[in-house]
Amino acid sequence: MSFADLGLSPEIVQAVTDTGYTQPTPIQAQAIPVVLMGRDVLGCAQTGTGKTASFTLPMIDILAGGQTKARAPRSLILEPTRELAAQVAENFTKYGKYNKLSMALLIGGVSFGDQEDALDRGVDVLIATPGRLIDHFERGKVLMNFVKTLVIDEADRMLDMGFMPDVEKIVSLLSPMRQTLFFSATMPKEIRQLADKFLQNPKEITV
Ligand code: AMP
Repeated sequence: MSFADLGLSPEIVQAVTDTGYTQPTPIQAQAIPVVLMGRDVLGCAQTGTGKTASFTLPMIDILAGGQTKARAPRSLILEPTRELAAQVAENFTKYGKYNKLSMALLIGGVSFGDQEDALDRGVDVLIATPGRLIDHFERGKVLMNFVKTLVIDEADRMLDMGFMPDVEKIVSLLSPMRQTLFFSATMPKEIRQLADKFLQNPKEITV
Protein backbone atom coordinates (compact mmCIF):
# COMPACT_ATOMS: atom_id res chain seq x y z
CA MET A 1 0.00 0.00 0.00
CA SER A 2 1.22 3.53 -0.82
CA PHE A 3 0.24 6.98 0.47
CA ALA A 4 -1.49 7.67 -2.87
CA ASP A 5 -3.82 4.68 -2.24
CA LEU A 6 -5.18 6.34 0.90
CA GLY A 7 -7.02 9.10 -0.98
CA LEU A 8 -4.66 11.99 -0.17
CA SER A 9 -4.15 14.77 -2.72
CA PRO A 10 -1.05 14.67 -4.99
CA GLU A 11 0.51 17.68 -3.16
CA ILE A 12 0.41 15.85 0.15
CA VAL A 13 1.65 12.58 -1.32
CA GLN A 14 4.56 14.53 -2.82
CA ALA A 15 5.38 16.21 0.51
CA VAL A 16 5.40 12.82 2.26
CA THR A 17 7.52 11.28 -0.48
CA ASP A 18 10.00 14.16 -0.09
CA THR A 19 10.49 13.18 3.56
CA GLY A 20 11.57 9.72 2.39
CA TYR A 21 8.65 7.66 3.72
CA THR A 22 7.61 5.02 1.22
CA GLN A 23 4.83 3.20 3.07
CA PRO A 24 2.15 4.28 5.50
CA THR A 25 2.44 2.81 9.01
CA PRO A 26 -0.53 0.70 10.25
CA ILE A 27 -2.18 3.61 12.08
CA GLN A 28 -1.77 5.81 8.98
CA ALA A 29 -3.18 3.14 6.66
CA GLN A 30 -6.20 2.65 8.91
CA ALA A 31 -6.90 6.20 10.07
CA ILE A 32 -6.27 8.37 6.99
CA PRO A 33 -9.17 7.07 4.79
CA VAL A 34 -11.54 7.24 7.78
CA VAL A 35 -10.55 10.84 8.60
CA LEU A 36 -10.93 11.83 4.93
CA MET A 37 -14.48 10.45 5.01
CA GLY A 38 -15.27 12.78 7.89
CA ARG A 39 -15.74 10.13 10.55
CA ASP A 40 -14.61 10.42 14.19
CA VAL A 41 -11.63 8.31 15.26
CA LEU A 42 -10.71 6.76 18.58
CA GLY A 43 -7.05 5.84 18.15
CA CYS A 44 -5.16 3.75 20.65
CA ALA A 45 -1.55 4.34 19.60
CA GLN A 46 1.73 5.21 21.25
CA THR A 47 4.22 7.81 20.11
CA GLY A 48 6.52 6.24 17.53
CA THR A 49 3.73 4.55 15.54
CA GLY A 50 3.42 7.45 13.10
CA LYS A 51 0.21 8.71 14.69
CA THR A 52 1.07 12.39 14.12
CA ALA A 53 0.98 11.95 10.34
CA SER A 54 -2.20 9.88 10.68
CA PHE A 55 -4.05 13.04 11.64
CA THR A 56 -1.93 15.86 10.11
CA LEU A 57 -1.98 14.45 6.55
CA PRO A 58 -5.77 14.14 6.17
CA MET A 59 -6.27 17.40 8.07
CA ILE A 60 -4.13 19.25 5.51
CA ASP A 61 -6.22 17.63 2.77
CA ILE A 62 -9.47 18.76 4.40
CA LEU A 63 -8.18 22.32 5.04
CA ALA A 64 -6.85 22.73 1.51
CA GLY A 65 -10.43 22.96 0.20
CA GLY A 66 -11.51 25.96 2.31
CA GLN A 67 -11.01 29.65 3.07
CA THR A 68 -8.67 31.15 5.66
CA LYS A 69 -10.38 33.34 8.25
CA ALA A 70 -8.83 35.78 10.73
CA ARG A 71 -9.04 34.55 14.34
CA ALA A 72 -11.28 31.66 13.34
CA PRO A 73 -9.32 28.42 12.93
CA ARG A 74 -10.98 25.58 11.06
CA SER A 75 -8.90 22.93 12.78
CA LEU A 76 -7.66 22.64 16.32
CA ILE A 77 -5.03 20.26 17.68
CA LEU A 78 -4.66 20.02 21.46
CA GLU A 79 -1.40 18.70 22.89
CA PRO A 80 -0.42 18.22 26.55
CA THR A 81 3.06 19.80 26.32
CA ARG A 82 4.80 22.62 24.51
CA GLU A 83 7.34 20.19 23.08
CA LEU A 84 4.68 17.94 21.54
CA ALA A 85 2.80 20.95 20.18
CA ALA A 86 6.01 22.24 18.58
CA GLN A 87 6.70 18.81 17.05
CA VAL A 88 3.22 18.65 15.55
CA ALA A 89 3.71 22.16 14.14
CA GLU A 90 6.95 21.02 12.49
CA ASN A 91 5.13 18.06 10.96
CA PHE A 92 2.38 20.33 9.72
CA THR A 93 4.90 22.63 8.03
CA LYS A 94 6.75 19.71 6.45
CA TYR A 95 3.68 17.87 5.13
CA GLY A 96 1.86 21.06 4.15
CA LYS A 97 4.69 22.62 2.18
CA TYR A 98 2.82 22.44 -1.16
CA ASN A 99 -0.44 23.69 0.35
CA LYS A 100 -0.77 27.34 1.33
CA LEU A 101 -2.12 26.95 4.84
CA SER A 102 -1.53 29.09 7.88
CA MET A 103 -0.87 27.84 11.34
CA ALA A 104 -0.51 29.30 14.79
CA LEU A 105 1.25 27.58 17.66
CA LEU A 106 -0.28 28.66 20.97
CA ILE A 107 1.92 27.46 23.80
CA GLY A 108 2.94 28.87 27.14
CA GLY A 109 6.30 30.43 27.84
CA VAL A 110 6.15 32.57 24.68
CA SER A 111 4.86 36.15 24.47
CA PHE A 112 1.21 36.66 23.58
CA GLY A 113 2.05 39.33 21.00
CA ASP A 114 3.46 37.12 18.23
CA GLN A 115 0.70 34.56 18.72
CA GLU A 116 -1.95 37.30 18.51
CA ASP A 117 -0.38 38.68 15.33
CA ALA A 118 -0.59 35.21 13.77
CA LEU A 119 -4.26 34.93 14.79
CA ASP A 120 -5.02 38.35 13.30
CA ARG A 121 -3.37 37.44 10.00
CA GLY A 122 -5.66 34.43 9.69
CA VAL A 123 -5.33 30.83 10.73
CA ASP A 124 -6.36 27.53 9.24
CA VAL A 125 -5.07 25.39 12.07
CA LEU A 126 -4.28 26.06 15.70
CA ILE A 127 -1.88 23.80 17.54
CA ALA A 128 -2.19 24.53 21.22
CA THR A 129 -1.77 23.52 24.80
CA PRO A 130 -5.15 23.83 26.57
CA GLY A 131 -4.25 26.54 29.12
CA ARG A 132 -2.76 28.94 26.61
CA LEU A 133 -5.65 28.50 24.21
CA ILE A 134 -8.12 29.39 26.96
CA ASP A 135 -6.05 32.50 27.79
CA HIS A 136 -6.33 33.66 24.16
CA PHE A 137 -10.05 32.86 24.08
CA GLU A 138 -10.67 34.85 27.25
CA ARG A 139 -8.77 37.81 25.78
CA GLY A 140 -11.16 37.65 22.82
CA LYS A 141 -8.40 36.81 20.37
CA VAL A 142 -9.72 33.55 18.98
CA LEU A 143 -13.13 32.31 17.87
CA MET A 144 -13.89 28.66 18.43
CA ASN A 145 -17.15 28.21 16.54
CA PHE A 146 -15.62 27.69 13.09
CA VAL A 147 -13.60 24.63 14.15
CA LYS A 148 -14.63 21.69 11.97
CA THR A 149 -11.91 19.24 12.97
CA LEU A 150 -10.63 18.73 16.51
CA VAL A 151 -7.71 16.54 17.57
CA ILE A 152 -7.23 15.59 21.19
CA ASP A 153 -3.80 14.01 21.24
CA GLU A 154 -2.18 12.06 24.10
CA ALA A 155 -5.45 12.06 26.04
CA ASP A 156 -4.05 9.90 28.85
CA ARG A 157 -1.26 12.40 29.44
CA MET A 158 -3.76 15.28 29.37
CA LEU A 159 -5.66 13.48 32.11
CA ASP A 160 -2.53 12.72 34.19
CA MET A 161 -1.38 16.32 33.93
CA GLY A 162 -4.75 17.66 35.13
CA PHE A 163 -5.69 19.31 31.82
CA MET A 164 -9.04 17.58 31.26
CA PRO A 165 -11.15 20.36 32.81
CA ASP A 166 -9.53 22.78 30.33
CA VAL A 167 -10.06 20.32 27.46
CA GLU A 168 -13.73 19.91 28.43
CA LYS A 169 -14.16 23.68 28.55
CA ILE A 170 -12.64 24.03 25.08
CA VAL A 171 -14.83 21.27 23.66
CA SER A 172 -17.91 22.95 25.14
CA LEU A 173 -17.09 26.05 23.05
CA LEU A 174 -16.97 24.11 19.79
CA SER A 175 -19.77 23.31 17.41
CA PRO A 176 -21.24 19.81 17.89
CA MET A 177 -21.15 19.56 14.07
CA ARG A 178 -17.42 18.86 14.11
CA GLN A 179 -15.20 15.89 13.43
CA THR A 180 -13.20 14.71 16.44
CA LEU A 181 -10.04 12.59 16.46
CA PHE A 182 -9.06 11.31 19.89
CA PHE A 183 -5.74 9.57 20.52
CA SER A 184 -4.41 7.92 23.63
CA ALA A 185 -1.55 5.51 24.30
CA THR A 186 -3.67 3.69 26.89
CA MET A 187 -7.44 3.22 27.24
CA PRO A 188 -8.34 3.03 30.94
CA LYS A 189 -12.02 3.42 31.90
CA GLU A 190 -11.73 7.15 32.55
CA ILE A 191 -10.28 7.78 29.08
CA ARG A 192 -12.97 5.66 27.46
CA GLN A 193 -15.66 7.68 29.26
CA LEU A 194 -14.12 10.90 27.97
CA ALA A 195 -13.96 9.44 24.47
CA ASP A 196 -17.68 8.57 24.71
CA LYS A 197 -18.40 12.16 25.64
CA PHE A 198 -16.34 13.79 22.89
CA LEU A 199 -16.87 11.39 19.96
CA GLN A 200 -19.83 10.35 17.83
CA ASN A 201 -19.85 6.85 16.39
CA PRO A 202 -16.05 6.73 16.16
CA LYS A 203 -14.03 4.21 14.21
CA GLU A 204 -11.87 2.53 16.82
CA ILE A 205 -8.29 1.86 15.70
CA THR A 206 -5.76 0.08 17.89
CA VAL A 207 -2.17 -0.48 16.83
P1 AMP B 1 4.96 9.70 15.72
O1 AMP B 1 4.38 8.41 16.21
O2 AMP B 1 3.98 10.52 15.00
O3 AMP B 1 5.65 10.44 16.83
O4 AMP B 1 6.09 9.33 14.62
C1 AMP B 1 7.22 8.59 14.95
C2 AMP B 1 8.34 8.74 13.94
O5 AMP B 1 8.08 7.99 12.76
C3 AMP B 1 8.60 10.15 13.51
O6 AMP B 1 9.99 10.40 13.58
C4 AMP B 1 8.14 10.21 12.08
O7 AMP B 1 8.92 11.10 11.33
C5 AMP B 1 8.32 8.78 11.60
N1 AMP B 1 7.33 8.35 10.58
C6 AMP B 1 6.03 8.72 10.51
N2 AMP B 1 5.41 8.12 9.48
C7 AMP B 1 6.33 7.33 8.88
C8 AMP B 1 6.29 6.44 7.73
N3 AMP B 1 5.17 6.25 7.04
N4 AMP B 1 7.42 5.79 7.41
C9 AMP B 1 8.56 5.99 8.12
N5 AMP B 1 8.66 6.80 9.20
C10 AMP B 1 7.56 7.47 9.58
